[in-house]
Amino acid sequence: MAQSTLIQDWQRRKEKSNAGNKQIVKRLIRRKGKDLDALASEVHDRVFLKINCLDCANCCTSIPPIVTKADAARIARKFGMKPTQFERTYLLEDEDGDTVMNSSPCPFLLTNNECMIYDIRPKACRQFPHTSNLDFSKNMNLHAMNATVCPAVFHILRELDFGN
Ligand code: SF4
Ligand code: SF4
Repeated sequence: MAQSTLIQDWQRRKEKSNAGNKQIVKRLIRRKGKDLDALASEVHDRVFLKINCLDCANCCTSIPPIVTKADAARIARKFGMKPTQFERTYLLEDEDGDTVMNSSPCPFLLTNNECMIYDIRPKACRQFPHTSNLDFSKNMNLHAMNATVCPAVFHILRELDFGN
């Protein structure tokens, strides 16, 4: 499928895909291990060749990222703010006790879908959607939920499950 077609395909199917995502993840859990992680990394690279995040930005508009103390200090420095001032302005503690950005869409998302702080963005933003760098098996519980937000995860799951 061509680039934007993958995003359109996900938009069309995401509402009804919840149960399907969970079933796929259940099957993939049985294949958990280095081989699955290596394959997931390959599929991740292939899918992201066809999806331009600047055409999507759905993670930045719908999931407030976790911001660590180190993230906050780094970003605050860029804006000449004290970390505490940055925390008061941009962060809150969520119901799980995690410190996250205090608004969705993210306050650092620009209207053209670029990230204002891309080079120094939080670690959680760099790691999302946890399908590359042999991270796939460590985040099994997240993939089904992330597939409802991220077109790339949706297609990565289906390509990994192909043939089942
Ligand atoms: S910091 Fe940047 S990458 Fe992270 S959610 Fe905000 S806009 Fe997106
Ligand atoms: S939701 Fe997925 S495809 Fe969309 S911008 Fe985020 S990482 Fe990229």
